[in-house]
Amino acid sequence: MGTAEERREELKAVWQQARSCTKCPQLAAARQTVVFGSGNADADLMFVGEAPGANEDRQGLPFVGQAGRLLETLLEEIGLTRADVFIANVLKCRPPGNRDPLPQEIDACQDYLFRQLELIEPRVVCTLGNFSTKLLRGDPATGITRLHGREEIRQIGPRRVRLYPIYHPAAALYTPKMLDTLRADFGRLPELLALDPPDQPEPEPELVVPEPEIVEEVEREPEAAQLGLF
Ligand code: URA
Repeated sequence: MGTAEERREELKAVWQQARSCTKCPQLAAARQTVVFGSGNADADLMFVGEAPGANEDRQGLPFVGQAGRLLETLLEEIGLTRADVFIANVLKCRPPGNRDPLPQEIDACQDYLFRQLELIEPRVVCTLGNFSTKLLRGDPATGITRLHGREEIRQIGPRRVRLYPIYHPAAALYTPKMLDTLRADFGRLPELLALDPPDQPEPEPELVVPEPEIVEEVEREPEAAQLGLF
């Protein structure tokens, strides 16, 4: 869908829209910045977290606090940096007191994320924790404990991607066992990125409006003409 440059420009337009979003009055009133996401707008790998925290809200960038430092370390361990990937969240605004995102906030914000996925065109989408995993799998009943470390091909919007749920780095900050699991799951990302990209669905056929048919005028019988018949 367009060149990388065109998609990047469109992504900037979506960012402009999000910057003044007031769909969630409580979040809009409390925020310092809208944390749209950052990184490579043409990345093969995209991470989707939950929502900005206090540091992110202040700096306008995702994952810049403690969880973000862990994410950067894990990226380094597989030979990548933030500049190679795109990082976004389910919510673009910080929930006050870092409470969980509310269902109506997720509903209101999700179009921004779906547009980001459509325009960046990642091959692998790595969901961090429950909120992004449940949203992008469209299955609120199945959580990260069952799903982490298992990739699956999923259609998100118009594209198929390899969806790869892993634990949220914040969950691993203080639990060494969880960190081991997160590191092991993270370690499979290079293998997933090396796979062929998922086959894409046939594009929707363009709606073709037929040329009006030129019908030769025929003479109607007077009565039939009254009934609209030939
Ligand atoms: N946690 C998230 O889910 N996202 C951030 O941007 C920071 C912490």
